[in-house]
Amino acid sequence: MELVHDCIFCKIIRQEIPANVITETENLIAFFDVSPAAPTHILIVPKVHIASVNDLNLAQSLLLGEMILLAKDLAKQQKIDRSGFRLVLNTGPAAGQSVLHIHLHLLGGRPMQWPPG
Ligand code: 5GP
Ligand code: ZN
Repeated sequence: MELVHDCIFCKIIRQEIPANVITETENLIAFFDVSPAAPTHILIVPKVHIASVNDLNLAQSLLLGEMILLAKDLAKQQKIDRSGFRLVLNTGPAAGQSVLHIHLHLLGGRPMQWPPG
């Protein structure tokens, strides 16, 4: 039996709390960030609960590839593929990870600074 996680993104996946969902695949869900940091700010989230990059294993590497490919498709759909976009995996407290369920940020629609803050 699979563990039921008391995690905000698991609750979105189980439709226990609402989200502005863009698309779902067998393994992933993508929805708009509730507090956007850029004109386009989408979260790409695996349906399986993995806390962070620190918890990834080789068997999940295909899932990571799927996340990046979905980000690519969504960047095109949002018309930020040519202007450019940023993919971010915040990991741990120093990087500001606030939701302990791995998620890929797709950010675009404005110029971005480097290095990030
Ligand atoms: P992190 O800081 O962990 O890298 O990113 C978590 C992101 O999730 C933040 O950008 C935050 O705005 C977003 N977020 C947190 N709770 C919710 C929620 O309930 N719904 C949605 N759509 N986004 C959320
Ligand atoms: Zn979760």
